[in-house]
This record gives sequence, C-alpha cells and structure tokens, in this order.
Amino acid sequence: MVIQKRLYVGLLGGSMLAAIALAVMIWYLIGNRQLIVNQVLLSIILGILGALVLLLSIGILALVIMIARSKSIPSLEHVSQLANEILFPLTLVTGKVLGIKRENILRSFIEVNNYLVNVKKPFIPKNQIMILIPHCLQHSECQHKITVDVSNCKGCGKCKVSELKKFAEENRAVIKVATGGTLARKYIKDVKPRGIIAVACERDLSSGIQDSGLIPVIGVLNCRPNGPCVDTDVSVEDVEKAFNTMCKGGK
Ligand code: SF4
Repeated sequence: MVIQKRLYVGLLGGSMLAAIALAVMIWYLIGNRQLIVNQVLLSIILGILGALVLLLSIGILALVIMIARSKSIPSLEHVSQLANEILFPLTLVTGKVLGIKRENILRSFIEVNNYLVNVKKPFIPKNQIMILIPHCLQHSECQHKITVDVSNCKGCGKCKVSELKKFAEENRAVIKVATGGTLARKYIKDVKPRGIIAVACERDLSSGIQDSGLIPVIGVLNCRPNGPCVDTDVSVEDVEKAFNTMCKGGK
C-alpha cells in the first residue's frame, strides 16, 4: 500500500514538475525568440500543444453533433472517445469548483455514454453480450458462491440475481458477478464480449465504461435502499431494455 501511495504521489509530483518545466521553457523561449533554435523549439512545442487542443476540440464537437443528431459519426468515434477520456478528470475538477455533486456528474457521464451506444446501433448477437452484475446485488445472507459461477444461484428469489440469471439463460447471454474492477476486467479478458450490460453504482460504472476501451457498455445504475454495497437492487426491466438496445439497436 505504501509503495502504491509513493508511486501515485511520485507520478503526481513528476507531472507537476513536467508542467512547470514546460511553462518555464515556453516563457524562456518567448523571451529569447531572437535565436533561430529557440524559434524552432517554440514552434514545435506550440505546434504539439495546438494539435492536442485541436484534437480534443474535434472530439468534443463530434460528441455534441452525435448527441444533437442522435446519430453516430463512425470516423470520429475514436477521437471523441479519446477527448472524453482525457477530459473526464478535468470535468470532475471543474464540477467540484462549481459545486456540482460528483454523483450527478458521473450519472450524466453514464447517460451520455448510454445515449452514444444507443445511437451507434451496435446490433450485437445476444450470445456475445455479457451482463456484468455486482456482488452486492446478492442477498447478504445467501451462502451460494455466485462469483465463481452464477449457476450456483438456487433461484430462491430473495434477490434479483435469479431473475437476471434466468433472463441471461433465455437469451443465451453470458452473465457474470464481479466483486470489483479487477474481476470485471478479468471477465472481459476471458469472455471477450462484443458488448457489455453493466450494473453498478455511479463510481464503478463510470470507471468501468472508461476501462472497457472500444467495447460498447450500457450502464444500468443499481439502487441502494440499504446503503452502499449491501443488498443493492436493480430494475430487471432496465437491464432487459439495455440488452435489447444492444442486440437490436435503436431506442
Ligand atoms: S436468488 Fe440466488 S443469489 Fe439471490 S439469495 Fe437466492 S440463491 Fe442467493
């Protein structure tokens, strides 16, 4: 744990030093523009920064156009995803400064993601869709090891796992129960789904969506009537709706 903290703090400090060094270098080069070599260096640095800003702007613009037109722009999907990933931490910081609740920003991020998957109309075969549910959905007193294999659920009906398992079986979809991001990533690696319906809280869903790369994910928020991470619940209808969107496309 200490090493992890050191690594993160070290990277944070290193990033800050790199940003300061870059700012000092630009300031120095602007002040000493008479030398040709400085002019070239300044042009290269400003060119790279300009290209990055341009790329991010195109990505954001593409995102806005896709939402406005309710239609995907396949050639710009990668750029908009990149812009989304790079700027996501910044939106959280901006939201915090503006006093917007983090949970609301994450919900909005998930909604935008779901909308974009919807307009893409992925048409993924049912058996290539993975339904990923969190362990906290299982009734807290249930002893069956469903993280090892969901078929260990005896279908007593005390939690939504039985209904979701039944739905997955009827549709020949894969269903997995994850205890966290590490297991979820392992399932994605092992199963290699072409699409994912993920059930989780705002925090886990938004990080899961970012981790999944180019695999389309539709996030379904769980409800927490007993507080976070214990005996959570989810609307099976919402999961079915998300599943149908992914396999049939459309709204
Ligand atoms: S429905 Fe399945 S997972 Fe839920 S409590 Fe019953 S046996 Fe356990």
